[in-house]
Amino acid sequence: MGTVRNIGPGAVRLFAALLVFTLLLGLFYNLSTLPLRKEMAVLARHAGQRIIVLDPGHGGFDGGARGLSGVEEEEIVLAVAKDLAWYLEQAGARVFLTREEDVELAEDKVEDLNARIRLAEAVAADLFLSIHANSFPSPYEYGAQSFYCHNHPASETLAKEIQGALVEGIDILGYNYREAQEAEYYLLRNLEIPAALIEIGFLSNPREEALLSQRAYQKRLAWCLFVGVVRFFSRTASVEETGY
Ligand SMILES: [Zn+2]
Repeated sequence: MGTVRNIGPGAVRLFAALLVFTLLLGLFYNLSTLPLRKEMAVLARHAGQRIIVLDPGHGGFDGGARGLSGVEEEEIVLAVAKDLAWYLEQAGARVFLTREEDVELAEDKVEDLNARIRLAEAVAADLFLSIHANSFPSPYEYGAQSFYCHNHPASETLAKEIQGALVEGIDILGYNYREAQEAEYYLLRNLEIPAALIEIGFLSNPREEALLSQRAYQKRLAWCLFVGVVRFFSRTASVEETGY
């Protein structure tokens, strides 16, 4: 009996400790997935039925920028675009990709860009995101950057929300001091809907090139783009509802 009395409280303490551990684990799991649920719910409310065109830059005869390891821009931006499409579709948006493999959309560059613009028009898209990776002579430049054009008044807000989400979400190489910037890209100039072009990082920086080649990092980038799009829709939806 004495043995039982000694073991009994020990077993109870062990059980209690396991219970607390399990509860904490559950709480941690819920907290870690909470932003996902929240962002999904916000998008479902404001943008569930929106039509979004994602444009992985380059493809086919034009591989885009190339890192020292030989990795091509077209390949990395396609992976990120597909990840982003998945997040957006989970939240109820209708997503179209301008390309789903390593192909060009026309024989020359201008017609290739025109084909991307025509797709957005054909599906009556509400939003257009072109995804690229950067290159610079100095190997030290790093960090993603969003660009917009003033031909649609909401494009600046879109680029700023995406830039904010990227700066908040990724600082592996140090703080990303880049800001959303206006740029007269042919693609952005010729779209009549909110649009942004995102340079997701520098292939000319070996450290960033290595990150950009990792699936986990590609998914993280896609997640930041997703958060930026959600914030854009929730912000513009409240403007539509209240007039402010
Ligand atoms: Zn590019």
